[in-house]
Amino acid sequence: MTGQAAILQSLLRQYDVSQWWTAEQLREAQFLQLSQLAEHAFRTVPFHAERLRDAGFVSGMQMTPQIWSRLPILTRDDVRDAEEKLRASSYPASFGGTNTASSGGSTGIPVRVLKTALDEIIWRSVHLRELEWNGVDPSLEIANLRGVGNHLEKMRKTPESFPGVFEDAGGVIMPDWGVPASLIWNTGSMGFLQPSEPLQTQAGFLIQRRPAYLIIRPSGLRLLLCYFREQGLIMDSLKSVWTMSESVDESLRELCREIFGCPIFNSYTANETGYIALQCPQGTNYHAVSESALVEVVDERGNACKPGEIGRVLVTPLHNYAMPLLRYQVGDEAEVGPPCSCGRGLSSLRRIVGRLDDYVTLRSGERRKADVLHYKISEIRAIREFQLVQTTLETIELRLVTSRALNEEENKVLEEVMKKSFGGYLKWSVLLVESLPRTQAGKLRQFLSEIG
Ligand SMILES: [Zn+2]
Repeated sequence: MTGQAAILQSLLRQYDVSQWWTAEQLREAQFLQLSQLAEHAFRTVPFHAERLRDAGFVSGMQMTPQIWSRLPILTRDDVRDAEEKLRASSYPASFGGTNTASSGGSTGIPVRVLKTALDEIIWRSVHLRELEWNGVDPSLEIANLRGVGNHLEKMRKTPESFPGVFEDAGGVIMPDWGVPASLIWNTGSMGFLQPSEPLQTQAGFLIQRRPAYLIIRPSGLRLLLCYFREQGLIMDSLKSVWTMSESVDESLRELCREIFGCPIFNSYTANETGYIALQCPQGTNYHAVSESALVEVVDERGNACKPGEIGRVLVTPLHNYAMPLLRYQVGDEAEVGPPCSCGRGLSSLRRIVGRLDDYVTLRSGERRKADVLHYKISEIRAIREFQLVQTTLETIELRLVTSRALNEEENKVLEEVMKKSFGGYLKWSVLLVESLPRTQAGKLRQFLSEIG
């Protein structure tokens, strides 16, 4: 066993114990970690020091729930605008080297967060915990239709750099699940296929490979399930489907049970913060990963929501000492769950509300994903926020909040994005506005439809 495998195993076994702690025990442990994080932020990040001081924190003291609740929420704008200022002037060398995580998130404009090697280890350990919760048999095959960027192309072009990789059924097959699973288990193979492939190819890949597990985004899963149903195809090898990045509703879970005969396990993550919550092994609640992040849900006045209430999700990663994020607003809304019937003390979220799939409706009745090239738009630094609004069955408006007028080149980029996203079926216009409306919980929706 390598050094890292031993660390991961020991974290997993700690999670086995801590998940059964009471909510009070977990909270106490979190406030011990928060005290250390706050002390570190106080000493190394003047931006935080000022906020902490205003909230009543003094160096050397224990963080209390009262002081914590007075600490202002850290918005995406704060992080984007003050990026450099949020970096710690120093952090423990044992946390390892740094790298940058970038996220477009639901507001479309990316924020960049500095992390250390320790954050990566925590991410890996929670990923393994997720697999254990999903009850996996590591010896079986996974089909990965999530999309792995140009990784697939690299494997095709330089197979010599990927020992044991081969092509089959239109995809690329890796001999194991890769890191971190392959560090601690003897795993089966993992087949990759790009989600941009036609549904026919995706279905053929699954039917031929007969994987036990499928990794896919919820919207892609829905299309695939509908295809299997319409074509009368049968898929009976799957034990579970693992989703992420978008919301999963009950209708999708039902469709998956009906067509694939298996459950969905969904996880809730953000690039800036790492894992936020995992689906309970015994139901469809989500459990916050309380050992590595403080997850709060607050109403528009900043007060903690009670079970059944919907509010903004704030996440404080407990191990990021390179760029501490204290009460970071990730841009989603969630409904707080009651204590989970499974008995775990980890706080629970009933559902993540703010990641609803956004569609435009055509006159024919057809619905298409309102899929705009977020990163292209957000490359234009003058654009602070944007929102797409379908105003009629033929028209869509791109509403922009900008820090200055856009130049000719930037307008050209916008034109390209809109043409690529909606060309051929919707007329578009661009409207500059002072501000964009927020939902009750203060969230910006990327897409709105004014069609009834
Ligand atoms: Zn549970």
